[in-house]
Amino acid sequence: MMKSLLLLSSSFPVFISRSPPKPPNLLPSSKNNTTFRKLSLLITNNSKQDDDQCVDFQLIPQSGDVQVGDTHADKLEDDELTQVNLNKVPYNIVFVTSEASPYSKTGGLGDVCGSLPIALAARGHRVMVVSPRYLCGDERFAGTVNLDSPTKVYCAGGVQEVDFFHEYRKGVDWVFVDHPCYRRPGNPYGDIYGAFGDNQFRFTLLCHAACEAPLVLPLGGFTYGQNCLFLANDWHAGLVPVLLAAKYRPHGIYKDARSIIVIHNIAHQGVEAASTYCNLGLPWEWYGALEWIFPTWARTHALDTGQAVNILKGAIVTADRILTVSEGYAWEITTPEGGYGLHELLTSREFVVNGITNGIDITEWDPSSDEHISSHYTADDLSGKMECKIALQKELGLPIRPDCPLIGFIGRLDYQKGIDVILSAAPALLQDDVQFVMLGSGERQYEEWMRATEAAFNSKYRGWVGFNVAIAHRITAGCDILLMPSRFEPCGLNQLYAMRYGTVPVVHGTGGLKETVKTFNPYAEGEDEGTGWAFSPLTRECMLEAVRVAIKTYREHKTSWEGLMRRGMERDCSWDNVALEYEQVFQWAFMDPPYIIN
Ligand code: ADP
Repeated sequence: MMKSLLLLSSSFPVFISRSPPKPPNLLPSSKNNTTFRKLSLLITNNSKQDDDQCVDFQLIPQSGDVQVGDTHADKLEDDELTQVNLNKVPYNIVFVTSEASPYSKTGGLGDVCGSLPIALAARGHRVMVVSPRYLCGDERFAGTVNLDSPTKVYCAGGVQEVDFFHEYRKGVDWVFVDHPCYRRPGNPYGDIYGAFGDNQFRFTLLCHAACEAPLVLPLGGFTYGQNCLFLANDWHAGLVPVLLAAKYRPHGIYKDARSIIVIHNIAHQGVEAASTYCNLGLPWEWYGALEWIFPTWARTHALDTGQAVNILKGAIVTADRILTVSEGYAWEITTPEGGYGLHELLTSREFVVNGITNGIDITEWDPSSDEHISSHYTADDLSGKMECKIALQKELGLPIRPDCPLIGFIGRLDYQKGIDVILSAAPALLQDDVQFVMLGSGERQYEEWMRATEAAFNSKYRGWVGFNVAIAHRITAGCDILLMPSRFEPCGLNQLYAMRYGTVPVVHGTGGLKETVKTFNPYAEGEDEGTGWAFSPLTRECMLEAVRVAIKTYREHKTSWEGLMRRGMERDCSWDNVALEYEQVFQWAFMDPPYIIN
């Protein structure tokens, strides 16, 4: 996920309808007129559709049928989920995201937006995913076709024309927004020189285009229409709920639509100078929804007023509901430590905040059929896992030692992932008879440390700098232990992949890691015996102690170790049940009227 300004604010950024710091740069009146003409045209053209929406609404269960959750701490109980199933209403769902695997991926967001839409489509919903078409001509987009539907959107002080490409795959309409600003080398957010300077523009464009897509694209012969449910993922899609509230609903468009902001990582909020507000294509009186004031200590000089715009804040203020990717994280973001300045705002809306733990794509991540690994295995026959370990040692040029505990790490080389803790613990860890492999890219200092450590501990350590999905699969399959000392982790996927591959996770007990990894308890029985180790607090000593207990268990308690592997492999981590939980939240979103700010 991209780096953006990390924000800490001691003052609660109150939403008030007040003007930007300098006289607002109103859109030229001719452009406003054009926008409004276009909107009124849509109103006229969609009157039939509005009637349809009324019919749809009668299908939604009355409020007595399904219990409405009133706090973020609500757990979706089994009987509630069964009820959701019985009262199932197919929705028109529009995911808006900066990445969707396999088309684009830098982290968990890509995984989630690549597989949850498929799970929801399989349950009968009509699902569209809108994402940028990065790097024209890239083979990952080879199956997409130009819909020949050039569309004008109004932002950044002018008219922008975008094209839409489309592929219907696994029951989902994958829609890609094409514009020159997405066609450049690097990852979705930046290149070797850092984050792209025009990211605010690139993702503003995505949001405007995504709001038009359901209205203008006749996918399979029919548009999605206005009665949609938008799932806006992270700040990159955060303008979608704001646009619904500020640009569309006041003109009668999308008045029955709903929006949910899904927060995968609150540390990234899309914050830019207040003077950029005029580029967002929003009416000036909505400035307060995005207004963000830096605390005094964070300002750069005496004349700096600290005024900024914060896109994620705008989404939290305007979305109908707020979702995060685990229950623990739903609570964490309402605390000063976890909310990155947005905790008070989130607390004020906590009755619409829920957390749903991510699932994983069990077809892509399946040790019995994974195309990236050398041998296949199952919980009933683990012999192939040893072959994967030997193959990995061979590939990495490490001594081939089936009995030596092989520890792995996969992830962004970022402070969030606790790389600094690994750095301080590695010399002590590597004194032991272990092997350690790390795959990651990110901060240059950490990449250099990996290279230096490989030189210093050549028979024990390998550092693979880069982003490589096939190697990630092979490390997941070949290692005995996966280390994840994340400082905070909204959900975390690597520990889920690890468990599915019989690789035992040792994690910092935070957010989604705490929720998904149960610490081994040799005195308990069955499921309660655990699936790994979750240590806390996040210190070098604590992490070393947990890893050493894991190594000792691996060496001296083979039966317990096999139990750990099996329980991890047998966990239900598919998207099917998760999709059911999402449906419950969708129902809640439609049972309440669209959220209107007073
Ligand atoms: P985050 O989204 O914070 O980066 P997650 O654990 O939620 O972390 O998801 C990370 C995803 O990115 C996983 O699918 C992981 O395998 C993948 N990943 C991370 N770094 C790499 C890398 N260097 N090479 C290949 N895959 C990677």
